Amino acid sequence: MSDTHLTGRCLCGRVEVSVVRAAAIPAVCHCTHCQKQTASAFSPVLIVPIGDITITGELKSYEDTNDAGDRVTRMFCPNCGSPVRTVSAKGTAAGVHYIKAGLLDGGAPRPNVEVFRRSRCDWLPDLRSERQFDAVPAG
Ligand SMILES: [Zn+2]
Repeated sequence: MSDTHLTGRCLCGRVEVSVVRAAAIPAVCHCTHCQKQTASAFSPVLIVPIGDITITGELKSYEDTNDAGDRVTRMFCPNCGSPVRTVSAKGTAAGVHYIKAGLLDGGAPRPNVEVFRRSRCDWLPDLRSERQFDAVPAG
């Protein structure tokens, strides 16, 4: 961890991630696909432009379609299975990469944005994020 970058690694450490801190938007995705991929209630992520991400180590990919009908590529460490990066091929999220924030040194930051709240687990407390979307931002 540095002043300028957020850093993290997968469970086994073969994959390392570094993201420009100023370019990263902390978010939470409540979509059913993220619930399954993480085997958890939601997925904390950093929303980051591709040019502000450095990843070292081999990743495997799973081609998925998200709850908005957009094709997404979900990348994970082939050794330990940790989800690392998700890329949306089209739609409002095109060109934007989602780095799984649970990988970060120091843990996932508090989210500013929540997406796919329509499939949010109803027992979750209010995360008090600034921007909340039933699905993804329109436009
Ligand atoms: Zn790993």
